[in-house]
Amino acid sequence: MAEQNDLFGSMSDGDKRATDLARMQQLMSLINRYNHEYYNHDAPTVTDAEYDARLRELQQLEQRYPEAASPDSPTQKVGAEPQSALTTVTHERPMLSLDNAMNVDEFRDFYTRLQKLSGETDITLACEPKLDGAAVSLLFVDGVLQRAATRGDGQRGEDITANVRTIKNVPLRLSGDVPARLEVRGEVFMPLAAFAAFNERALQNNEKVFANPRNAAAGSLRQLDSRISAKRPLQFCAYGVGVVSDDAQLPATHSASLQQLAEWGIPISEELVVASNLVEAEAFYASLMEKRHRLRYEIDGTVFKVDDFALQETLGFVARAPRWAVAFKFPAVEQMTRLLGVDFQVGRTGAITPVARLEPVHVAGVTVSNATLHNMDEIARLDVRIGDTVIVRRAGDVIPQIVSVVHEQRPAHAERIELPLVCPVCASHIERIDGEAVARCTGGLVCSAQRKEAVKHFASRKAMDIDGLGDKLIEQLVEADLIQSLDDIYHLRYDDLLGLERMADKSANKLLNAIEQSKHTTLARFLYALGIREVGVVTAQNLAAHFVVLEKIREASLDDLLAVSDVGQIVAQHLLHFFAEPHNKTVIDQLLAAGVYWDVDDAPTVVDDAPLSGQTAVITGTLSQMSRDQASAYLQQLGAKVTGSVSAKTDFLVAGEKAGSKLNKAQQLGVRVLAEEDLLTLLAQYQVLP
Ligand code: NAD
Repeated sequence: MAEQNDLFGSMSDGDKRATDLARMQQLMSLINRYNHEYYNHDAPTVTDAEYDARLRELQQLEQRYPEAASPDSPTQKVGAEPQSALTTVTHERPMLSLDNAMNVDEFRDFYTRLQKLSGETDITLACEPKLDGAAVSLLFVDGVLQRAATRGDGQRGEDITANVRTIKNVPLRLSGDVPARLEVRGEVFMPLAAFAAFNERALQNNEKVFANPRNAAAGSLRQLDSRISAKRPLQFCAYGVGVVSDDAQLPATHSASLQQLAEWGIPISEELVVASNLVEAEAFYASLMEKRHRLRYEIDGTVFKVDDFALQETLGFVARAPRWAVAFKFPAVEQMTRLLGVDFQVGRTGAITPVARLEPVHVAGVTVSNATLHNMDEIARLDVRIGDTVIVRRAGDVIPQIVSVVHEQRPAHAERIELPLVCPVCASHIERIDGEAVARCTGGLVCSAQRKEAVKHFASRKAMDIDGLGDKLIEQLVEADLIQSLDDIYHLRYDDLLGLERMADKSANKLLNAIEQSKHTTLARFLYALGIREVGVVTAQNLAAHFVVLEKIREASLDDLLAVSDVGQIVAQHLLHFFAEPHNKTVIDQLLAAGVYWDVDDAPTVVDDAPLSGQTAVITGTLSQMSRDQASAYLQQLGAKVTGSVSAKTDFLVAGEKAGSKLNKAQQLGVRVLAEEDLLTLLAQYQVLP
């Protein structure tokens, strides 16, 4: 056995050392690269947990071989050297990082060290959330914000004064009796709602999407053009004091000095508390962790600092962090795993969403095996393939997401992800209109995934107006399979209804009566009721007025459709796809066979010699004398076309109370704006008012 060990198992000490030293070199260059991607490009390629694990591995090797540890090692450094085109600022006092405690044992080790070094049993600690953003230094001279800088490599940061001035909660001037020179340190972060909205917009505009709020904050802060920063909703929170001039005496504790900053007008954390012993400190950690996902900003742990400045001074610093503070981290919200496959799900409105099937992974206390991929554009943007190693993020109740792909770990057989041609639920065709991110199932009327929504829309007031067929009842009818296709509404029997919740003799009869009455409708209502994408009430009316009979609409070509007022390329394509789908043709025929009808005379007609013929109007805001629908009907009687959006082709806009973006647009384009009184005068002039 011993012989075998020598041959195959154990390495000689010399070999082991050589292997370890080579690994140290490898780790140094790996971590330096991660630092560069993270700090200079705000685009990490590995999770923080992976980064932290590699850094610790290097630290342990350096402890084992101190003689081989390089003074240049990333374990001795903070952040990364500033590399942007911004001016460099040298910090008067270095801006350090924080040591981490990854679990309660490590936190207790930190506390025990404090006890030993101070000779005290109970150490008073200031407890703060660890905000996940970017560290900045703000220098106030005579109470006026003079300079703002990033942390950079701790010694030298970048001048970001112009950008920081655009942050709304950073005071440009302090109030009260302020020291002549005061340096405040804190975190700039992007609140979660703002981050989500920012990324959503960026996705739509094909711009850079940030993996997480931290990268978004850091990237926004370092913009060369402060007008760009100004558009990013950043916030600041102070967590410490840097250099202070001699003319002022700050309080003797960290917590009191933060309160002092608050009095001068500087925002500090509302979560700040002081713990007078270990039990209280651990209770703070537990309570903040419980609250973590309800906060409006992201935090990745708690920070504990010795509260007494005198004791802080005695404890001092190690290379890259103070001995008197620790970041006690929460479980990570990002993890690496593998993409096993992609399923396509159909939403209530027919939207097809790719869902990633993942190798199960523990993220912030929950096993995650699925993540949303949003749409095909997102798949292209991430450049993700089946088999890839991906970074999954799960923050709070938000559906887990794939935020990036570790491209260098792509296996040779990684498979491209293709959008299916037909709906996985009903086999209708999938359409993807040019310029739209979302692909959709065209089988709105037959697809069981969309059935409830389709029936609700069909029965609604502006559509077939079936009184008494409300949302709850529709849900019951669909779930009981009594409505599988729209025409089933017209085949419902008294006995079917009686079996349903809260349905008695009288209500059942009333409903059957309302269903019967709804059969007599108008072409415009029927078209609207079909729920064709982007075909609202106005478009349906315009289509009915233009084509007069349904058959012509069913057979219309793209050019025929484009000739209708208010119908552009997108709506025309939706109409074409809808009427081309055989399933939809069947449903329309079934509805007509079930007895749905309209009088051809009811079709709104475009009257050429009407007073407003050839004019296009838009109505916006709240009218006091009539609804917008009524106003629209009156204007149509006068021959105007009423559309939903303002463009250069709009002749006039009727603007009621609280008119918003449409009014602004009309003013920008120089479109004539009528107030409600003007509309009333116009209608009175032509005697259209009842
Ligand atoms: P850190 O983020 O772990 O801790 C120090 C920083 O915390 C401070 O500089 C400050 O900005 C911030 N902070 C937030 N709230 C604070 C408070 N109340 N008091 C004091 N400071 C507070 O350290 P770091 O040096 O900025 O970054 C190191 C960490 O960044 C790593 O542990 C890793 O998780 C991550 N990182 C990841 C990658 C990657 O590629 N994924 C690369 C580099 C760094």
